[in-house]
Amino acid sequence: MKISPNNDNGCGWLNLLPKRPSTPAFKGTKRAKWLIIGAGYSGLSAALTLAENLPSEEIILVDANKAGEGASARNSGFLVASALNEGHLSDNGLDDYKEKINLYKKSIELAKHLIQKHNIECDWQESGKYHASKGLQHKEKLKNYIELLDGIGINSQLLEGNDLSDKLGTDFYKIAAKTESCILLQPAAFARGLVNALPENVTLYENSVVKKINSGSVHKITFADGEIIADNLIVAVNGFMPSMKIKNNRVFPLLLSASMTRPLTVDEQSMIGNVNQWGVVSASAMGATVRYTSDKRIMIRNTVEVSSSLAMKNSEMAKRRKIHQEGLIKRFPFIKNDIFEHSWSGVTCISANNANVYQEISNNHWVIGCYNGTGIGMSTLFGQEIALRALGKSSKTNKIIEDRPKASWLPPQPFLNWGIRMRLAKDRNSASSEN
Ligand SMILES: Cc1cc2nc3c(=O)[nH]c(=O)nc-3n(C[C@H](O)[C@H](O)[C@H](O)COP(=O)(O)OP(=O)(O)OC[C@H]3O[C@@H](n4cnc5c(N)ncnc54)[C@H](O)[C@@H]3O)c2cc1C
Repeated sequence: MKISPNNDNGCGWLNLLPKRPSTPAFKGTKRAKWLIIGAGYSGLSAALTLAENLPSEEIILVDANKAGEGASARNSGFLVASALNEGHLSDNGLDDYKEKINLYKKSIELAKHLIQKHNIECDWQESGKYHASKGLQHKEKLKNYIELLDGIGINSQLLEGNDLSDKLGTDFYKIAAKTESCILLQPAAFARGLVNALPENVTLYENSVVKKINSGSVHKITFADGEIIADNLIVAVNGFMPSMKIKNNRVFPLLLSASMTRPLTVDEQSMIGNVNQWGVVSASAMGATVRYTSDKRIMIRNTVEVSSSLAMKNSEMAKRRKIHQEGLIKRFPFIKNDIFEHSWSGVTCISANNANVYQEISNNHWVIGCYNGTGIGMSTLFGQEIALRALGKSSKTNKIIEDRPKASWLPPQPFLNWGIRMRLAKDRNSASSEN
């Protein structure tokens, strides 16, 4: 294993939740029928599905850190029904887009179902999202997006000038497409709720880094202090697939960082017009994601990078925090001091053609992941569907996911990282004013 996940402890969403003690790390040797590696939304959803269908069997779930505290806690909390960067160029592409939208819809229904079933309090807000831009260069793109969404039954509208600033409490943005059917939620609370919902027949081992996988007629999984031999294996490690030598010529990880302020004071709230909570994603590929939360905090994520360690040292985080601070002041110039309470990083997984990973890569060895930045709902759906598939239960959704385009080929390292760095630098340059 090249890189082990190493979570920092600065995540605002997590720090706002009560602390949860870890379950023991895995030690010794064990024979298992079912093993899931990775306890983010994907692995948790797979575990819940297997456990429900096999009530008298033990399902083992392992994570290198604490369950639900990787990207699944560290994201920006947009549970989306559509994404701007998946636009189509042909009729063929349009069909593909519609199919993806249907999967997004299913994923939202599933998340809602799980939240209701397990009484998960995660600040579910059906408030939609703004794809916003500081400049007018994206106007055509936003208009096309609105037209596309209208054609498939998702309400959306173009907002400009005061109509937009009155909603956001900042005149930083000049134009936005406001789309319905996006839920804003507290991501760590959703993940924690799924952890708490694990039934007794799921055994969770935390702080248990998988060092090696040997797949054959059974699968031998090696840890620092032990080994599990499993009949059935689901790998759900998302951005850590390449470090496990899985799909390393198809997907790649990126390291993102974000900061979150203390709650705005009553005076500060009135300075932004006492607006309701909102979420903005940039119309530029590399622009900032910003949220004004229901407890009156501002979260900003405006860095993304290639990282060989997939983690940030304190000194690196301090530099990113300055970038977050600059982004905050551009939007809210009345904020003079550093009012961030939390800064953190998280790993996301991308493919060159926006495709996901959902595959039985060898006998009874399944892999899911690579949600390209829109993974809250999709990971939950993929987790459920891969578990059903592993159980031999066919479903329409399964077939749709399986038939979707596969992640395209990527060049080997170090050329891959050079290429991505160049592309990020180019995108960053064109989005510099949007951050
Ligand atoms: C900053 C940021 C913002 C984002 N914003 C959004 C958003 O607003 N909306 C959206 O839809 N998506 C967003 N995403 C993406 C979303 O968070 C992910 O797609 C989603 O969390 C994927 O869930 P997962 O369970 O597949 O992966 P993860 O949550 O990454 O879980 C994988 C788990 O595998 C474990 N693991 C890895 N390697 C090993 C190993 N060797 N041994 C044992 N365990 C291992 C990790 O510790 C981790 O817990 C964002 C991501 C980031 C980082």
